[in-house]
Amino acid sequence: MERTGISSYTEQQLAQIVKEMGQPAFRAKQIFKWLHEKQVRSFQEMTDQPKAFLAKLEERFTIETLEIARRQQSKDGTVKYLFRLADGNCIETVLMRYSYGNTVCVSTQVGCRMGCRFCASTQGGRIRNLTAGEIVNEIYAVGRDTGERVSHIVLMGIGEPLDNFDNVMDFLSIVSSPNGVNIGMRNISLSTCGLVPKIYELAEKHLGLTLSVSLHAPLNPMRSSMMPINDAYPIEQLIRACRDYQKTTGRRVSFEYSMVNGVNDSPETAKTLAGLIKGMGAHVNLIPINPVDGSPYSATDAANVRRFQQMLTDLGVNATVRRRLGTDISAACGQLRREEAKEGTAE
Ligand code: SAH
Repeated sequence: MERTGISSYTEQQLAQIVKEMGQPAFRAKQIFKWLHEKQVRSFQEMTDQPKAFLAKLEERFTIETLEIARRQQSKDGTVKYLFRLADGNCIETVLMRYSYGNTVCVSTQVGCRMGCRFCASTQGGRIRNLTAGEIVNEIYAVGRDTGERVSHIVLMGIGEPLDNFDNVMDFLSIVSSPNGVNIGMRNISLSTCGLVPKIYELAEKHLGLTLSVSLHAPLNPMRSSMMPINDAYPIEQLIRACRDYQKTTGRRVSFEYSMVNGVNDSPETAKTLAGLIKGMGAHVNLIPINPVDGSPYSATDAANVRRFQQMLTDLGVNATVRRRLGTDISAACGQLRREEAKEGTAE
């Protein structure tokens, strides 16, 4: 029998496993704490468990770990990690230091199959989903490396979180547990390119996290030219899903808008965008595009970004320009992994 990673199980799932193994129920909580609060790397460290039980666990399970393949630190404190998974694949994780705490940007898949034209993470397609245990380990590995507490999480790294729905839901359950790292849903943002049916499914879970939608354009031909997913779920359907999400969860959606010179950055487009989302109370995050190899796009210049922001504000839409951290090391998201892949060690 192939062993599976034990950090991927939620407390509830562990309770089931412990029961099946004929152990008292309280062992589930103890094991969960060893894995997610103390973050042990071996079963032997679980000193309050019977030896025979630990041996049985070890027969069936592994404890997932990540190896730091590369690490880049920026002058502003941002740290970018390339982590190697047990099967040799690589993913990226970023630590950003804000005044309100340390935020970790996690990857949710090895690669991505959404095909956004400006994004480095999707260039080699999707290799596989990450397990919940691999995603939580991104946070633990950063905590271990820096010795600092992680207080916020954004699911904005490599991959489309809603394309790995079940594992991402388990991940959220694990990191928000008071018996683990206890990061509250209010401190977690999930970003999606707009998988409409999954947005409805997420809303039904009433998790209290922030949903961030990568809108990037207010008109279908423009958005489809940037993001193929728009052909499956066009803007009208996406905005309807966002409005439904707000109604169901009572939480405002925020929109990401990566600005591409000459594509989605005209004053006319600002007006159309404001018309599309006005009345939602939504926040728009403007991000000058980070040009990647093989992409035809270049970034909107700073003055035009500010002008676009001002127009949105004047039209009653709350918009900010994302503060750029780690610009001296950065490589747009996904680029470190691509570099590694080209060197022939990652894939
Ligand atoms: N798949 C999810 C989350 C990962 S991408 C999503 O699409 O939202 C996180 C954010 O970075 C998204 O808004 C994405 O569109 C944006 N992004 C990706 N590549 C970029 C680039 N080169 N420049 C600017 N933003 C980019």
